[in-house]
Amino acid sequence: MPSFDPIASQTVRAAPHLEPGFVHADQVEAARRKLAAHRDGRKKRLNFLVLLMDDVGWGDFGCYGGGVAVGAPTPNFDKLARNGLQLTSCYSEPSCSPSRATLLTGRVPNRHGLHRPPMYGEPGGLQGEVTLPQLLSDAGYFTQAVGKWHVGENEASQAQNVGFDDFYGFLSVSDMYSEWRDPQFFPEIVYSAARTEWIKNMPFNRCFVHARKGGQAENVEEVTIPVLSLLDEKWCQYSEAFIERMAGEDQPWLLYHCTRGAHFDNYPHEKYLGQSPARHPYKDTMLELDAIMGRLVDSLRRTGQLEDTLILVSSDNGPHMETWPDSAFTPFRCAKGSTWEGGVRVPGLVMWPGVIEAGRQSDGLFDFNDILPTLLAMAGESARLPSDRYIDGIDQTSFLLADDGLSNRKYHYYWLVKNFSGLRCGEYKMMLTATSDDDSGSAGPGGFTGVLERFTYARLYNLYLDPKETHNYMTRKLAYVEAFQHGMRDHLGTFRRYPPKTVMGLDVSRAQQQKS
Ligand code: CA
Repeated sequence: MPSFDPIASQTVRAAPHLEPGFVHADQVEAARRKLAAHRDGRKKRLNFLVLLMDDVGWGDFGCYGGGVAVGAPTPNFDKLARNGLQLTSCYSEPSCSPSRATLLTGRVPNRHGLHRPPMYGEPGGLQGEVTLPQLLSDAGYFTQAVGKWHVGENEASQAQNVGFDDFYGFLSVSDMYSEWRDPQFFPEIVYSAARTEWIKNMPFNRCFVHARKGGQAENVEEVTIPVLSLLDEKWCQYSEAFIERMAGEDQPWLLYHCTRGAHFDNYPHEKYLGQSPARHPYKDTMLELDAIMGRLVDSLRRTGQLEDTLILVSSDNGPHMETWPDSAFTPFRCAKGSTWEGGVRVPGLVMWPGVIEAGRQSDGLFDFNDILPTLLAMAGESARLPSDRYIDGIDQTSFLLADDGLSNRKYHYYWLVKNFSGLRCGEYKMMLTATSDDDSGSAGPGGFTGVLERFTYARLYNLYLDPKETHNYMTRKLAYVEAFQHGMRDHLGTFRRYPPKTVMGLDVSRAQQQKS
């Protein structure tokens, strides 16, 4: 029997609303045995810690080739990789809110409708979606969100109204709280009383908040620049206290901890200011994020919960190159806002001591939309997966837990706002549309500054031979075309039965209609 190959192998679709996946029966059984062995004799089910960073690049951690090599050592992330599974093909969406909503719903942006981030109080977000915290909460979990939210500021889309028992953080994104206060970036606002008053009257909350399930968000503190530099410390303390408290509770838990860093503009905590070998704000912030990783793991160990907690670490998109040098490191082409690999290939570390074999590495495909069905399956609650909507995520339990686990995903689909941009299978990637990263009208080679290109003929890249996607290999590799067209037809065909949704498109007036 030939060895398994993702291009040459067939997937199985279990139901019309479920994404087709590979079934590796022996690995499914190995994972099942590991889960059963963990449950045996324990009162509490598995806990989940999802640590999501902002705009941190695929290459920033030492274990991905960055760390000391780019002036910001990351010993705690590297240790996590050595003690768990390091994914090299973990995919987010091209920017913050699309990625976060995909993580929380198991659906691609063209289904949950957040094609781009809401800004400065624009209404519209997660309301109406079925979320991972809601499903886990229904299953008896305590669900805690800490830090950046940015999947809807309107009340119905806030964390406490879409499944979280408790939320402590800010509703939007770092730069929105700071940029108009900084004379470096907005002197015309800082030095104008009229414009300062104008921006203060915009409909966004300038404070970070605390909210309990079903309740109103209460302001904790206004996010001035000095407060902003303390946010990751304050939020880490809140999560440490949460982990301590839950050690004594009967309920299993989900902690969704989203850092402020290292989104532009970074104003490092004084403890880290100038402490990185690079002595730049972004790199100093990476030191703090690494320390936070270490502190959360220490809290789990100290409270005896480390072996009962699956830790998943990632970043919500690639580096934002328009803000260089306040930006991350990726070895891939282009940046945040694009569907070139630099925009969407993110770090992915998974640790569960005693269950996931230490030191594993895999280039198998793993999507943010896989997180919902996978965590639900590990909690023993797959039956709660909604059947009234399409779920793009695939249960990757056997991939993550079996010692020789292979990805159950055949294709990764790239979406650029409302445009289907392309798909990857194995080491090959077909592109139909993309942002141009040689936009001469822009100083930064970034995804958000590029113009949309529709290729006359689809392009094909071999990501192993050509990770920077510069050599179109199509005319020499036509044998692959049918496999890619099949995956594309299958994916786009699902939108006929399950129509797409728009909450945040590029048409602002449409977003206004979603006001709750
Ligand atoms: Ca981001």
